[in-house]
Amino acid sequence: MQTYAALHRRSIQDKAGFWAEQAQLIHWHKPVQQVLEYTNPPFARWFVGGETNLCYNAIDRHLAARADQRALLYISTETNEERAYTYRELHAEVNRVAAMMRSLGVQQGDRVIIYMPMIAEACFAMLACARIGAIHSVVFGGFAASSLAARIDDARPTLMMTADGGSRMGKPILYKALVDEALQIAKHPPAQVLIFNRGLDPAMPMTAKRDVDWAQCAASHVGATVPCVWLESNAPSYILYTSGTTGKPKGVQRDVGGYAVALAASMKHIYCGQAGETMFTTSDIGWVVGHSYIIYAPLIAGMTTVMYEGVPTRPDAGIWWKIIQDTKATVMFSAPTAIRVLKKQDPAFLKKYDLSSLRHLFLAGEPLDEPTHQWISDALNVPVIDHYWQTETGWPILSAMPGIEATPIRFGSPSFPVYGYDLKLLRESDATPASANEKAVVAIEPPLPPGCMTTVWGDDARFVNTYFSMFSKKLVYSTFDWGIRDAQGYYFILGRTDDVINVAGHRLGTREIEEAVNMHSAIAECAVVGVADVIKGQMPLAFAVPKDAARIATPELRQTLEKEVLAMVDQQLGAIGRPRTVHFVNLLPKTRSGKTLRRIIAALAEGRDPGDLTTIEDPNSLVQIQHVLKGLAP
Ligand code: AMP
Repeated sequence: MQTYAALHRRSIQDKAGFWAEQAQLIHWHKPVQQVLEYTNPPFARWFVGGETNLCYNAIDRHLAARADQRALLYISTETNEERAYTYRELHAEVNRVAAMMRSLGVQQGDRVIIYMPMIAEACFAMLACARIGAIHSVVFGGFAASSLAARIDDARPTLMMTADGGSRMGKPILYKALVDEALQIAKHPPAQVLIFNRGLDPAMPMTAKRDVDWAQCAASHVGATVPCVWLESNAPSYILYTSGTTGKPKGVQRDVGGYAVALAASMKHIYCGQAGETMFTTSDIGWVVGHSYIIYAPLIAGMTTVMYEGVPTRPDAGIWWKIIQDTKATVMFSAPTAIRVLKKQDPAFLKKYDLSSLRHLFLAGEPLDEPTHQWISDALNVPVIDHYWQTETGWPILSAMPGIEATPIRFGSPSFPVYGYDLKLLRESDATPASANEKAVVAIEPPLPPGCMTTVWGDDARFVNTYFSMFSKKLVYSTFDWGIRDAQGYYFILGRTDDVINVAGHRLGTREIEEAVNMHSAIAECAVVGVADVIKGQMPLAFAVPKDAARIATPELRQTLEKEVLAMVDQQLGAIGRPRTVHFVNLLPKTRSGKTLRRIIAALAEGRDPGDLTTIEDPNSLVQIQHVLKGLAP
């Protein structure tokens, strides 16, 4: 591991030198004056004075050499469509959408909320924002109206871009109807909404003056060109909201230059994606993986990117492997959950297609269990690389880096710290470094490398207080994950230190779900915990206390109330946050100071030893939890 170790060491010891070299991977309109400015810790400014543009690096830069190469391949098994765009065509589409946005009054620095399904137009929208220096905030389609409204009020967009609907398993999901609902709740709604009509909602109402039909608007901008706006490297490129321990989602803000460089470097050193090849990332543009590895990174690298709308098992469980065969993809990126779903299907699907183009499969977003890692490695016969990162970092923290050196894969481990990350395992008690095999907090010594979040949108203090204040004596970024490093230097991630759970690779704050449950008028309070799930990794489980015990007196009444509570979560948060079960109890286990003991509830729900119980105020609360978990009355 000498080559990797030497590169990593250099990236930490000579940050400016290392990143100045990586910066050459992208186009700069104006050269960088200072690689790193770190005068106001923990706020880092990378490539100060340099001017660039994400859209230019993703599209325009490639026109000379690869105008007729496919840039984007959109495949929908929901509407049975397939459309390919060359770099030249993508350039034209993005220019047109940029002109449309300009005509609707969007200026540099304005926010644009993109609430769209996985269609090519969503990709155009993101790149068009980048082109004109508008800040996009993509909101995942699974979120409910009130979650969308909260994001609208925080980002205060000038424009929203949406579609009439999306589709899942052939069933339409009405996006525009949900946007209408969110705009009723929002205090700071945008003046205009641009709607791409796919014909999925024939009854879609349009609001005069506010709603603009995409096709009509596009018709008046055929052939339009809009020059890229050159942005100082540290200008914001986008906001992506993510859950934490509080009910209010945080707007993760990213820059332009640092992000472009980090992504370009990752394509070379980690993903090994070459210009002219195809990358297939199965995520959604609503998540960070979609931002980085469906849209920006593969295009910056001059690859063809696949945007897939559909599930992995329809029309059958061979669909993803068919896409690999048809596109000759060399790099695939997915999530452990999806692989666990496919593991349950007929293994013949994997044999049916020619997968010889594939060099690596990368998996991230949640722990990759050993049996799944083993199974997919055997089936594909290529290195399957478990790598670890967060919305906040935008690109991998821990990974094997086959572009630097082919290190042996260890099942259950996302390998080693990636160059640029000064990773530390610190004891929770006093921030001292942990020994080999000692469980500790995974932390990053600031400055964070290029591409990582630069602040919380509109709230610098929250950035510092949330991420850099776990240890009173040390200004260090906490990932809020536990980890260990073995004697060979391999890292293992052991779960979160906070009340955040991970459902099918999606991060959910238990607080957010609790707030949604508490919105039901019959509920006094509740606790939501994550419990292990064979497919999804974790699932939320709710324990709710009714205001009136009579509402849970019989199994029938409990069932009725559970249905109502689940509907409330769907409405407040979206189906993504729906608990597997809502159990009803008359009291929750709490400390004497009134803190709900979620870790004890989670241990009981998973059949583990709950550990020290001396802090519980009323032990009867535990008996109730045990009863309801067995299906008995509390
Ligand atoms: P998100 O920002 O939603 O992608 O969630 C990031 C969190 O997912 C991390 O803090 C980890 O808890 C978890 N995570 C991501 N990748 C991995 C991985 N490879 N192994 C274990 N946990 C992971």
